[in-house]
Formats: sequence, structure tokens, C-alpha cells
Amino acid sequence: MNNEVRVRFAPSPTGYLHVGGLRTALYNFLFAKRNNGKFILRIEDTDRNRYVEGAVEKLIDSLKWVDLEYDEGPNKDGGFGPYFQSERLDIYQKHIDKLIEEKKAYYCFCTPERLKNLREEQQRQKLPQAKYDKKCFHLSEEEIKQKLDSGLPKVVRLNVQPNQTVAFDDIVRGHVEFNTDNIDDQILIKSDGFPTYHWANVVDDHLMKISHVIRGEEWLSSTPKHVILYNYLGWELPKFAHLPLLLNPDKSKLSKRQGDVAVEDYKDKGYLKEALVNFVALLGWNYGDDKEFYLLDEMIEKFSLERVNKAGAVFNVEKLNWLNGLHIREKSDEELLPLFKEELAKSEYATNNYDDDFLLSIISAMKERVTFVKDFIYNCKYFYEAPTTYDEKIVKKRWKDDSADLLKQFLEAVKQMKTNDKEEWEKILHEIVEKNEIGFGRLIHPVRLAVSGVGVGPGAYELLQIIGKEEVIKRIEKALAEIPKLKEQL
Ligand code: GLU
Repeated sequence: MNNEVRVRFAPSPTGYLHVGGLRTALYNFLFAKRNNGKFILRIEDTDRNRYVEGAVEKLIDSLKWVDLEYDEGPNKDGGFGPYFQSERLDIYQKHIDKLIEEKKAYYCFCTPERLKNLREEQQRQKLPQAKYDKKCFHLSEEEIKQKLDSGLPKVVRLNVQPNQTVAFDDIVRGHVEFNTDNIDDQILIKSDGFPTYHWANVVDDHLMKISHVIRGEEWLSSTPKHVILYNYLGWELPKFAHLPLLLNPDKSKLSKRQGDVAVEDYKDKGYLKEALVNFVALLGWNYGDDKEFYLLDEMIEKFSLERVNKAGAVFNVEKLNWLNGLHIREKSDEELLPLFKEELAKSEYATNNYDDDFLLSIISAMKERVTFVKDFIYNCKYFYEAPTTYDEKIVKKRWKDDSADLLKQFLEAVKQMKTNDKEEWEKILHEIVEKNEIGFGRLIHPVRLAVSGVGVGPGAYELLQIIGKEEVIKRIEKALAEIPKLKEQL
């Protein structure tokens, strides 16, 4: 037997990559890389009613963005293509013919109307589940031939044997059993000639030599149908691993209504790909310790399906935000610079020309205090323009009777400065503090308020150094004219 690990991410192109899909893709990718295997992208596009223009390209772009490169798939043939199910119709047909011959599948010519009546009748009888009654399975060879010849609309159904146990072992969920009485004679080929998900999925997983089927828990109830098919076809079962559901914080199933679900949305909101991938990895997996910060390489080293939990995983955006901050701090200032410039290009300061040293100094001053790269702009607009207002709460609290006098002393000292070095800023501030025999805060709070308009920000020396001598002088003069008046009104 060939032991090569081959896994696949098999999305139906709906127009975007769902974060749940990202989790499935990531776990497949990690498992493949961990085991020197292949990660395959297969596009399950057999539902023609759901065709969305450009969906596949978007999906591939999103996977690229998060660095989940596939080894085989669209435009990357590994000898098992095509990787679009819509291009494999003859393959599905060939295999279905064999099943029909062996009576493991059969043609069904029932009209939608008959099926509707059947369903309603079963509901009236309060049967737990509507099921097809196998009427067409009992047609004679002649009847079948005659109906086929007359070109009646038809589907092909799976012939499920009553009251048998279908069992399989799931790496995440353990031993799973279903009774076939609860399984419908599933349609395998639709009236438009296209295969259903079940049929195409099983045929492809077999022909593409998929060793492990790793997918969301919502597919668990489909698996017994697949197992029946594998058995009918005499094909070896792949190993199954069904990943836990993703939940909203209120424990309902993660849905669009309660927040963003598309990977693109998170990208547009300014999340780092490293943070999103790290966050998604933890939705159902941990290494067994409480480490939460991971880069892709370390995840590859540590990932195993045995450590995936059964319990639903809560999608907690606060945790994602926290991780985003950690991943920003993990990057060097130079690595952050291009990301910062991208944000600047989208901002109201897009047309200003800032030199790299100025931007790098903002990164270094603010890095410990941001959650998003765009916070280098919006949490510290005072680096880009003089404040137009002063935080009233801070004015009330920090502007004292001696503040104006202290600021005037400071202003004189600034005018005498020879350099814009941090050390020189430190020196003049300390001289004033000592001369007036006051605490450092007594001076620094009004200075900060005057130059930035707010009460929080990076260290005072850095703040002043980045804003620079000339600009500091202007801002102090303006503040001396405005803040005392404002204070009186409060
Ligand atoms: N096409 C299915 C989906 O959209 C694939 C499920 C599976 O992995 O078997 O998720």
C-alpha cells in the first residue's frame, strides 16, 4: 500500500473563502506539511445553480494571501487532474454505470410531484425522516429500458440496504455508527447529468488517492453514505477527521449575520495574515500547553489531528485582536514599514510625502501600543498634524495654575536647543523640573497635552523628538493661547 499522505481542500466556489473554510484548508495544509505529504486544492463546482463568476480566483487569492500554497490543483497539475469537478463528468459517468449494472445504484424516474406527495404522506404518518420509497428500484429491466429510450427525466440513486450498521473510525470523533434505516437512497447523478456532492466527492477522493479526509463537522452525517459507496465500489476507505463546528460567542453556529465570515473582510479590516492564521489554527486545536502565539512553521512542526477537539470552537474576535497586536510586535520595524505605507496610502495623508526615518520612528514609538497597523496613523494623528482640539478631561485634570508658566519656560528652552536628540529633550525637561522643584508629571502632562491634544501616547522624549523642535514650538505657542481660555470655560 502507498502510505503517502495526500489531503485535499475541496471548496464549492461560493464567491469568497469562509473563515471556516480557511480553518479546514489550514488543518489540511499543516497535516500535509507535517507528514511530507501533498496538499491538494479541488474545486467542487458541480452545482450549476450556484455558479458565481470569479469565485475560484477569489478563493485562490485568499489562500495565496495566507501563504497556504497548494501542491496540486488548478494550474498545478500533479497527475491527478483535472481539479475542477465540472471537467470530470465522464469519469463520474463511467463509475456510475458499473454501480448501476451491479444494482448498487438505480435509475429513478419519479416526477417532482410524486416525490412531493410522498414526502407529505410521510410527514402525515409522522415518520422521523422523509425517504424515497425505492419505487423505481423495483422496475423491471424492460420498464427501465423503455423509460430510458423515451428520454424521460431521470436521476440515479444509491441503493441503501435497510437496517444495517455503517461504521467508521474518525480521528477526531472516535468510532461512529449509523443505521442505514436513517439513510435515504441518496441521489448520485442529478437530472442535469451532473453528479451530486456525494458521488463526485467519493470518486475523486479515491482517484486522487486521498489518504485523509479532513473537513468540517457538518459533513459527518454525509460520511455513512460515502462509506456505503466505498464499500460498494470495493475501494479502500480514507481516514476521516471531522473538525469541530465554529460558534459565535453566544454558542450559535457562526454565521454572516453576527459578523464577518469572509477572509477578505478580515484582510480589508487590516488584520495581519499571520494573526488570522494563528487565530484560526486555535479554533479546535492546541498543542497541549497554553501557548497561543504561533507562526506557520512552528504550527507545522507541532500540528497533529489527534490534538483536535470535538467540542465546538468559539470565534472570539477579541482574541484575534490580541493576537494581531502580538504579531505586529513580532515583526521588525523594517518589516512593518511597507504595511504601514499601504495603510497611509489609504488614509487622508496619502498625498503627503513622509520619509522612511520619520515613519520608522513612529513605528518604534507606538509598536507596543497598537492592535492594528492602521493604529500607527489613527492612534497618533498628532504625528501628522497639529491638534485642533484638546481633550477636555485632560485639560481639567492636568492643566494647573502653574502650567502656563512652566510651558513658557519650556518654550524658551526649546528655542535654545541645538539638536533634536532624545537626550537633549530629556535634559531640558529635567532642568525645568529641578529648577521649579516639581514632580516630573507636573511639567510633562501639560507638555503632552499641548503638543498632542491628548493624554496618552508614547514616551515624552520620543513624542517630542518625532514631532521635532520647530513644530513643538508652534504647538506650545498655540496651546498657551488656547488652553487657559478653554480651562476657564470648563
Ligand atoms: N464541497 C464541500 C464543501 O464545500 C466539500 C466537503 C468535503 O470536504 O468533503 O465544503
